[in-house]
Amino acid sequence: MIESNGYFVNNSQIYKDTNLIENPKDKEILVEILFCGLCRTDLHVIDQEIPFTKYPVIPGHQIVGKIIQKGQNSTSQIGKKVGIYWLYSTCQKCQYCNQGRENLCDKANFTGCTVHGGFQQYIKINEEYVVDIPDFYEDHEIAPLLCAGIIGYRSLSLIEECETIGIYGFGSAGHIISQIAIWQGKKILAFIKKGDTKTAQLAENLGCKVYYSNQIINHKHQGSIIFAPSGKLLKIALLNTTKGGTVVCGGIHMSDIPPLKYQWIWNEKTIKSVANVTRQDANNFFQIIQKIYQKDRKKIKIDTDVYPIENITQVIQEYRKGKTGKSVVFKLK
Ligand SMILES: [Zn+2]
Ligand SMILES: [Zn+2]
Repeated sequence: MIESNGYFVNNSQIYKDTNLIENPKDKEILVEILFCGLCRTDLHVIDQEIPFTKYPVIPGHQIVGKIIQKGQNSTSQIGKKVGIYWLYSTCQKCQYCNQGRENLCDKANFTGCTVHGGFQQYIKINEEYVVDIPDFYEDHEIAPLLCAGIIGYRSLSLIEECETIGIYGFGSAGHIISQIAIWQGKKILAFIKKGDTKTAQLAENLGCKVYYSNQIINHKHQGSIIFAPSGKLLKIALLNTTKGGTVVCGGIHMSDIPPLKYQWIWNEKTIKSVANVTRQDANNFFQIIQKIYQKDRKKIKIDTDVYPIENITQVIQEYRKGKTGKSVVFKLK
């Protein structure tokens, strides 16, 4: 049995407690957590906005850690650093799992939501659900890539063939994905809240063309990704998308979508949501990151602020107010 001190959430309250973890068996590994990112989804977990969350739970699903113990059938190497993300386990038997859509598995577990996540010292997981992390990053820089990067990349792959993409809501995911898309030769239009000059500047520096988030434009884009959790944006995105285009809703939670007019989706437009990620998504994402680095020595980057986990309550308060700016990463060790 391993004692793991961590930060639990129940009834929207955060409190410190000890999580007892059994020794790893079979293909399980025990990972000592070094860093864990904070994501908007963690706030949805805290705020009880994700109906399938199992409370009390330790949130956090962007984990960088080191393997320190393993089960008898594990082939992992002790001491190796790995990434742990939202998909914690699947049944590997159902129709979804068999069709390569394990993100939809009814029996899937999600890190920091249906099982304890990364705001603690240790985590145990089946070795098949961790991802290899590139060695040309600092450990803390990897954390935001493990959610915003992977889920953003899944959203992007749903509109792969589009040359011009509108991104609505330019947080971590928008930031990471536009760097990849621009590297692929695509044009990115970033739709950003009026008055948010800091984000607008950031998007411009990356090579995006910047518009206001409620702006209807003349030269439409072929694909859209909505990362902001605002249902109202669907109308704007649809109106700005060309015939036959696709609008991807990339978030786990969105406010209600106001009534849509058929005319806005006519001409064969598609609306799609993204739910969770597959292991393939995680591998594909880190492969493209690797490829970009090997080819051009370019690191897909996201600025991070690192805080000690002990400051979690205060940091979350600041994060809610939007005061943190950069991606927040907690240091566990
Ligand atoms: Zn399944
Ligand atoms: Zn996340």
